[in-house]
Amino acid sequence: MTLSLDHAAWDAVRHGIERFRQEIRELPVARSATPEALLRDVRSAFPFDAPRPLQSVVQDVLSRYRENLVHVTHPRMFGLFNPSVREAGILADALVAAFNPQLAVWSHAPAAAALEQHVLETLARVLGYPTAPLVTHFTSGGMEANLTAVLCALAARWPAWSQEGVGGLAARGIRPTLYVTGESHHSFVKIARMTGLGTAALREVPVDAWLRMDPAALRDALARDAAGGETPVLIVATLGSTGSGVCDPLPAIADVAAAGGAWLHVDAAWGGTAAFSPRFRPLFRDIARADSVTWDAHKWMSVPMGAGMFFTRHPEAAAQAFAVTASYMPPGDGADDPMLRDGYGTSAQWSRRSLGTKVAMSLAELGIDGYRALVERMADLGEFLRDRLRAAGWVIANETPLPVVNFTDPEIRGGRRSAVAVARAVQDEGHAWVSDVVIGGRERVIRACITSFETAEADVEALVHALGRARAVADARPHPSSV
Ligand SMILES: *Cc1c(COP(=O)(O)O)cnc(C)c1O
Repeated sequence: MTLSLDHAAWDAVRHGIERFRQEIRELPVARSATPEALLRDVRSAFPFDAPRPLQSVVQDVLSRYRENLVHVTHPRMFGLFNPSVREAGILADALVAAFNPQLAVWSHAPAAAALEQHVLETLARVLGYPTAPLVTHFTSGGMEANLTAVLCALAARWPAWSQEGVGGLAARGIRPTLYVTGESHHSFVKIARMTGLGTAALREVPVDAWLRMDPAALRDALARDAAGGETPVLIVATLGSTGSGVCDPLPAIADVAAAGGAWLHVDAAWGGTAAFSPRFRPLFRDIARADSVTWDAHKWMSVPMGAGMFFTRHPEAAAQAFAVTASYMPPGDGADDPMLRDGYGTSAQWSRRSLGTKVAMSLAELGIDGYRALVERMADLGEFLRDRLRAAGWVIANETPLPVVNFTDPEIRGGRRSAVAVARAVQDEGHAWVSDVVIGGRERVIRACITSFETAEADVEALVHALGRARAVADARPHPSSV
């Protein structure tokens, strides 16, 4: 970068983004060029053989992004938890890229570190999570935050694990087990492998009729495993499951965790944002008893990916799991407050970009009350979607106060129509985007989530119409059975 900015390139970025935003409702949500065709196209557009003016490079990226992405920021994107993004987050990412603050140590990026810790502390208060003592940091996403939880739980339970590893535990006859449900996020499968515990350490606890973890079954599973010589080390309670928005009953699970001596981790990757609204406070009851919490700002808080967040009230565990000293790192200032400790000694990452600037700027622009309104508006639209679907002959298949709506119809339930084919037909038409999911391990349904704060009633109506057309397309096109 030269001393002055390349104005032509910046103008191209600004106009490109603005035009995209202005025209988004007219653009298809998804395109279906084949990966082979796209690879051929980018190979020829970007030969990397000679320098080019930045402005033309910007244009080449912009046009391809516009044409060939699933537009997760589209108001008729009813997909997974990837949101439309606040403008504050876009601006913040440009600022962060330009200053490139290195957050591995507090002293290297004090202004950025202070802003991160302040916004994380504020969000801990929003959750109702204790702020002293507290270790909290941004992660690449919910996956890394969940991994951090398991590492902290192991370190807290067996300080020797940090030297001897799981092999050392095994040599002492210790077999740690982790408790999830069929609705928990599948990152725990990878985490079981990454931590060396192995997927055999995972226990799937039965759920009730609403797909919530059954605390009595959890208690039984812990007792059975303990009697069999295993050591229950961590329980995952999910607030807002990925498939169907299920919220596990925290107080009862916290009781079982306390009685069994297990670490309670709350995975609120998506659902955490509901804490902004008093309407959803009951879901967060007893969250202060959790040993750690995952919350993704890049989901419902509508900031650009990735911005996971990890909170634990056990600074010793984070230090046991992550503390290192390296002669080439600037010395820390030995802060007593765990919040002020250097990030590389309390978390998995080393070089650490500022993920908090985009969260802080979004929260500053909208305010806590603005986020409350955003959450409630989207939850109301979820209710509106349920009503419109019922009116069009669909059957709501899950129970959650949050705006994830799973639905089916008698034809799908009877095996005469495919949920996959209906979702696919909606995607192919390009007017809206929904997916399909198996809930409760038994039934494949269509999944629609209000994930853009720009979605309006008319977009919901448009989705219901698109689903009507998709039903006809799916019935005309024979498709493998849905389950
Ligand atoms: C999305 C999600 C995750 C994983 O988070 P990433 O940010 O995708 O890594 C974990 N748990 C739940 C409940 C999620 O919805």
